[in-house]
Amino acid sequence: MKNTINSQKSNEISLLLQISKVFQQPLFHQNPEIELNSIFSQYFSNSKLKIYIYDENIDEIREFSKEWVIIENQDKSLFLQNIYNLLKNNNEKSFYLNGKPMTKSSNITWQEDNTLYLSLWDNGFLFGFIELKFDSLSREITDYFNVLNLCTNYLSLIINKIRLDEKMQISINFHQSMKNIAKIIENQYELNYIIPLIGEMIDKFISDHLIYIFKTNENGKFELLWPNSYSPQKLDIHLETIKKTKKYILSDDKNAGVFPLISEGKIFGAIAAYGTINKLSYKKIEYLEQLSNQVSITLEKASTYAETLKHATMDALTGLNNRRQFEKHLKNTTSAAKRKKLPLSCMMIDIDYFKNINDTYGHAVGDMALKDVAKIIKQQLRDYDLPARYGGEEFCVLLPATPIEEAKIVGERIRNAVEKQPINLERLDFQDKKIISVTTSIGIGQYSMNEEPEILYEKADKALYKAKENGRNQVILFD
Ligand code: GH3
Ligand code: MG
Ligand code: MG
Repeated sequence: MKNTINSQKSNEISLLLQISKVFQQPLFHQNPEIELNSIFSQYFSNSKLKIYIYDENIDEIREFSKEWVIIENQDKSLFLQNIYNLLKNNNEKSFYLNGKPMTKSSNITWQEDNTLYLSLWDNGFLFGFIELKFDSLSREITDYFNVLNLCTNYLSLIINKIRLDEKMQISINFHQSMKNIAKIIENQYELNYIIPLIGEMIDKFISDHLIYIFKTNENGKFELLWPNSYSPQKLDIHLETIKKTKKYILSDDKNAGVFPLISEGKIFGAIAAYGTINKLSYKKIEYLEQLSNQVSITLEKASTYAETLKHATMDALTGLNNRRQFEKHLKNTTSAAKRKKLPLSCMMIDIDYFKNINDTYGHAVGDMALKDVAKIIKQQLRDYDLPARYGGEEFCVLLPATPIEEAKIVGERIRNAVEKQPINLERLDFQDKKIISVTTSIGIGQYSMNEEPEILYEKADKALYKAKENGRNQVILFD
C-alpha cells in the first residue's frame, strides 16, 4: 500500500518535472499542442490533447493551432461553445452536458467517460480551454489532478502570452501598413490614386485571398473600385447584409469576409477578402477589421480634403496650378487668343514609365521626381506661360502668343533638361543607387480660332499619345 502511494507520488513528480522542463524550451512556445501531446501520451494511454481559444470578436471557439482557424463542423463548434459556457459559468461541482455527467474540481472539469477540460484563465477571464481525451474509463487520470491543476495555471500564463504576442504582432503589422498609407496619401486627395494603393497593400498582407474594394454609388449600390475585374457573385449577398448590420460578416464556409467602410454612421463602401480554399484566419480577420476602420477614417479625410481643394487653385505637391485652375485658364486664354488674334499653344507632358519608379524605389521617390520635373518645367518657361499639374504624372502648359513651331523649341528644351538632370536620391538616404534619371514625352497642339477650348487640350493629348507610341522621350506636334 505504502509502495503504491510512493510510486504514484513519484509519477506525479516526474510529470510535473517534464512539464516544467518543456515550458522552458523555445519549441514549446511555437507549438505547445505538439509538445504537450508528446508528454501526456507517456502517462495516459491514447491521450489526445487540443487547445481551444475563445475569440471575443466573433464570440466563437477557435483551434489554437493553425492560426486560430474557425471550427468547421457546426455540431462540434456548438459543442465546444457549450463547454466554454459551462466552464465559465457553472459553479456546481457536478452537472450534465449532453446527457453525460461532468464533475468539476478547481481548473479541471471532468466528463465521466473519457475527457478532461482544463480552464485557461487570464485575470478572471476564461480565454480558452484544453481538451484532453484519454482511454475510456482510464480512471487513473484522477490521481494526477493536483499536478494537472498546478500545470494549468502555468499553461494559462504561457498560452495567454503567446495569444497576446500574436495580437501584438498583428497590431505591429497593422501600424506599419498604416504608416505606409499615411506616407502615400500625404499630398494626395484623389481616391482614384489612393484606393489602388490601399488595395495593393492589403493584397500583399493577405496573399492567399483576393481583395476587393467597393464604394456605394448615389443609389446605395456597391460598385467595385479595385481591382479592375469582376468580383465574385458570392459576395453580393454579404454586401447586402452589411448594409443592414453595419458589421463585418464571414461566409458560412468562412472562406470569405466582407468588412464595411463607415463614415458618420453610414456605409460608403466595403473591403472584401475572398478565397475558395483557405479560411480566413483570426489574424487576418482582426487585421481586416482594424484596417477597414482606419481606411474609413482616411477616406473620409480624403474626401473632406478634396472638398476643400475644390476651392484651391494650387497643387499641393508641386506648387503648380491644379487641374481646375488649368481648365479655367484654358477658357480664358482661348478667348483672349480669339479676341487678340494671337496664336496659342498647349503642351502636355507625361513622365515615361513613371509607374516603374514608384514600384522600384517607392512613392516617396516618385513624389520627389514629380517635384523635380515640375521645377524644371517652370525654369524653362516665360513668366506668362501657364504650367499646371493636370493629374498624377501629367503636366499641361498653356503658351499664349506662341505658335506651335516655337512651342516645339520650348518642349525640346524641357525634354532635354529633364533627361539631363538626374534625380538625386541622397536626399532620401538611399544606399545602393543614389541617382536615377527620368524622361518625358511631350505632345503639342495649336489653337484654331472658333474651336471649343477642350479641342486644344485634346490635340495636345493626341500628340502625346503618338510620342508614347513612337518610343517616348520625344516631342510630337499635332498635325
Ligand atoms: P507611360 O510611359 O506610358 O506614361 O507609363 P507610366 O508608367 O508613366 O504610366 P501610367 O499612367 O501607367 O502610370 C502612372 C503612375 O503614376 C501610376 C500612379 O501610381 C502614379 N502616380 C500618380 N500620381 C502620383 C503621385 O502623386 N505620386 C506618385 N509617387 N505617383 C503617382
Ligand atoms: Mg507616364
Ligand atoms: Mg500618365
